[in-house]
Amino acid sequence: MKMFVRGAWIEGSEQMEVVNPFDGSVVDTVPVATAAEVDAAIAGAVEGAAIMREMPAYERYEILQKTTQLMHQHSEELGRIISMEEGKVLAEGLFEASRSATTMEVSAEEAKRLSGEVLPIDGAPGTRGKLAFTLRVPCGVVAAITPFNFPLNLVCHKVGPALAAGNSVLLKPASDTPLVALKMVEILLEAGVPPLAISCVTGSGGHVGQAICSDPRIRKISFTGSAEVGEQICRTAGIKRVTMELGSNSPLIVMGDADLNKVVDATVATGYANAGQVCISTQRVLAISDVYDDLVAALQPRVEALQTGNQLMESTQVGPMVREGDAVRVSSWIEEAVSQGARLVCGGQRDAAVVQPALLADVAPSMKISCDEVFGPAVCVSKAHSIDEAIALANDSRYGLSAGVFTQDIDAAVRFAREVDSGNIQINWGPQWRVDFMPYGGLKQSGMGKEGPRYAIQEMTETKTVVIHS
Ligand code: NAP
Repeated sequence: MKMFVRGAWIEGSEQMEVVNPFDGSVVDTVPVATAAEVDAAIAGAVEGAAIMREMPAYERYEILQKTTQLMHQHSEELGRIISMEEGKVLAEGLFEASRSATTMEVSAEEAKRLSGEVLPIDGAPGTRGKLAFTLRVPCGVVAAITPFNFPLNLVCHKVGPALAAGNSVLLKPASDTPLVALKMVEILLEAGVPPLAISCVTGSGGHVGQAICSDPRIRKISFTGSAEVGEQICRTAGIKRVTMELGSNSPLIVMGDADLNKVVDATVATGYANAGQVCISTQRVLAISDVYDDLVAALQPRVEALQTGNQLMESTQVGPMVREGDAVRVSSWIEEAVSQGARLVCGGQRDAAVVQPALLADVAPSMKISCDEVFGPAVCVSKAHSIDEAIALANDSRYGLSAGVFTQDIDAAVRFAREVDSGNIQINWGPQWRVDFMPYGGLKQSGMGKEGPRYAIQEMTETKTVVIHS
């Protein structure tokens, strides 16, 4: 595919391959943007921002509504592209496509709700006769830098609110999954987005992403990806707004009164979806000692039963990881944990990019597979002797994106909600749960700022204060 720069689809002088992670076959190629092409994209986006800030909210709403309709019409194609380039099973690709349309629909609705407030200025002395209010105005050019694991929905979580707020957008998708992002640009243009208001450049984060983030013409960076890259972007961004949606090693506490059938359902659903490559995957199950052995025994057959293989086959439940190198990394973390005393209950075998879903028990918090973000199909189970110990273990992490607890005890649930340092709290489900309008974002090194169109719009607009003197 071509990339879209300053209102034109361009081939680029150099290309990179996009491969299907299951068999390494080439799905397509995309350009590697040069420094001059990135510069042109930013210059075009500045012109686009001037167009967008003049566009009335109702027009922005109509364009985003039309985008939603077109996405529904193309959902089969979008789902298939996601699955081919990312490796998630087709059912998950199709679900992402339909969810992404909802993200655009919610963004459309929010376009009409942007407002300032009247300030009660006469509450201060010497203000007789004056009137004051705030205006919310767009930031200008929003850079949207997205990861591979939700290659369409996370694009929509940035592009939708940015356009709804009256900004232009420069999109830099992950190099493993640029195709669905480029298809999305086609849809946006067909829906009526002014061509200068959306650009999409492809190429490596280290070069293209870095050049975008350090450019002062970019007024807002909306980044989703790893904590390491997020930190690097913050260091080079200079004075501009940033939203950081970063990683996690999400905990799930299981209390002694939990319904173990539900815990098993939730752990399997939230630990292995997209081969564990979800920022809020269940990674650390912290089970109270009374139920620890029963839980591990109940999980084992359910994890063993997960069918792995080609993501495009209907029978497959867990597809390949995005790159074989990541599968090698996950296998080596499993081996390291076993060498340090963890028990591999099942799974862990690797065939190219496919890792058999792994369940590990007796995992110590200091093991890499527990304290770092595994981002693969491996769930660790550790024992806790009390709710105090379980909460301390849950918080023993540099991350704080999502956390879950299973309990029938309202006091334990409320304590968990209050004391666990996490941006999302799930009671009687695993950490991996989200609907796209809710505020979503992490604490600690899981990031800063919130997504969810209404909340993202707050971060993609600036406040002006107006005082009328008489
Ligand atoms: P990543 O390696 O951090 O890459 C994310 C994006 O940043 C890609 O487009 C990448 O481009 C680009 N990039 C890399 N280096 C850059 C630099 N120096 N400057 C600017 N951009 C740069 O993350 P990933 O492997 O794609 O995604 C997995 C991570 O995302 C996990 O940590 C996961 O938890 C996190 N995530 C978080 C959320 C959330 O909402 N909190 C949601 C999904 C994923 P290239 O692809 O070209 O390297």
